[in-house]
Amino acid sequence: MHKVDFDMVEMTLDVMKYAIGRITHPAPELGKPKREVELKALVGDTVTPEGIGGEKAFQLFKDVLIKATVPIDHPRHLAFVPASPTRAAVMFDLVTSASSIHGAYWMEGAGGIFCENEAMKWLVSLTGMPSGSFGVFTSGGTAANLSAMVTARENWRKNPMNENRKGLIITSSGAHSSVKSMAKVIDCDVLLVETEDRLTAAALRNKIEGLGKQERERLFAVVGTGGTTNAGIIDDLNGIAETCEAHKLWFHVDAAYGGGALASKTVRHLFKGIERADSITIDPHKWLFSPYDCGAILYKNPDLAKEAHSQEGSYLDIFKDEGAVGFNPSDYQIQLTRRVRGLPLWFSLAMHGTDKYSWAVDQGIALANSAASIIQDHPCVELVREPSLSCVLFRRKGWSPEEYTNWTYKNHREGFALVTPTKYKNEGVYETVARFCFINPDTTEKDIEMILDSMK
Ligand SMILES: *Cc1c(COP(=O)(O)O)cnc(C)c1O
Repeated sequence: MHKVDFDMVEMTLDVMKYAIGRITHPAPELGKPKREVELKALVGDTVTPEGIGGEKAFQLFKDVLIKATVPIDHPRHLAFVPASPTRAAVMFDLVTSASSIHGAYWMEGAGGIFCENEAMKWLVSLTGMPSGSFGVFTSGGTAANLSAMVTARENWRKNPMNENRKGLIITSSGAHSSVKSMAKVIDCDVLLVETEDRLTAAALRNKIEGLGKQERERLFAVVGTGGTTNAGIIDDLNGIAETCEAHKLWFHVDAAYGGGALASKTVRHLFKGIERADSITIDPHKWLFSPYDCGAILYKNPDLAKEAHSQEGSYLDIFKDEGAVGFNPSDYQIQLTRRVRGLPLWFSLAMHGTDKYSWAVDQGIALANSAASIIQDHPCVELVREPSLSCVLFRRKGWSPEEYTNWTYKNHREGFALVTPTKYKNEGVYETVARFCFINPDTTEKDIEMILDSMK
């Protein structure tokens, strides 16, 4: 008979109680990092031959360690790209873990992968990509960008002329660092079009036409951005698509942050041309209210991704039973064994409906617009540029970079807010400015006013 372990039952209840408390708390304590030596001094040795016991370990986690983390879903956490997972999605993240689903192959993960694919169909529909387009959930935008770049490069290398060529990608200076970083992984070069605003077709054409013959032969892809991380700027996706079609280049759109805004009725038109992309990155863990981590890569022609990524496992060959044959997520991105990380998104979508998602995304955009008008009426701050998507860049008149830093530290130290400065290039000069990025629909205008007042 299965022995019931009462300690384990109690531990499970404790953990669940904590999880429920955390999920239902509207504004968790805004923790902050401590140095490793400080944390070590506070918790001592936790991994020992005998074990310190679940109760003690959990206590240390609750009393010390969680307080050395910044809850990214706090309504006054407006730094970087915050997150705001729905309660439904967080709950289902627990279920995802508890269910131990291997998400690489349909043979083992069919039911879970089916759910992911339902959510994926919605993502694909938001982009307007042609029928046959499909995608897969990844660990994040970096892995999604990498998966797309590998696919593009392998497709280009099908031409024997390109077999030994080092590839070249063009993107803009506003592109996310992961594009440059993943180019290193696939050992290709990146050319940046310098721009202070959106990448236009004319600037891209200029760059392409300025290439020497050898460079032109090495060029295989262009990466446009659907919402820069710093300022929410959307490139001229339609113009870039046209240029890529004319030059037979792979067109990848990195919409890791901005992709959620495809669900918005108010800004969807700004993404015109995204439907012509060969591949698109969208991070549900940014603006589609999924817990970490959940990215997605979508392909116009998934077969090309399969050719690039499929890892032939001969041990799979015995599974010819009809039910065992289906969509294998491992075929379309860089990872083999994987969590069905699209499952929390699926549950939350199924529970709330897609209209609720449109509403929640529109909330972030509305907050950015409210912030802009509050800033315009405020005596000591001014807008650096009109808000784009949910990003607002503004300056505190007369402040030096140090004053921005001190302000950030003070607000964080007091557990009040996390709002960080950034740099914005205006007419060739980098300026330190303040930045809001709104994701959490529970952020209020009052929060915005209080933060601005802290700059007085
Ligand atoms: C955040 C971001 C990424 C990186 O995504 P991760 O999920 O952090 O790996 C890539 N591109 C853009 C535009 C982003 O905003």
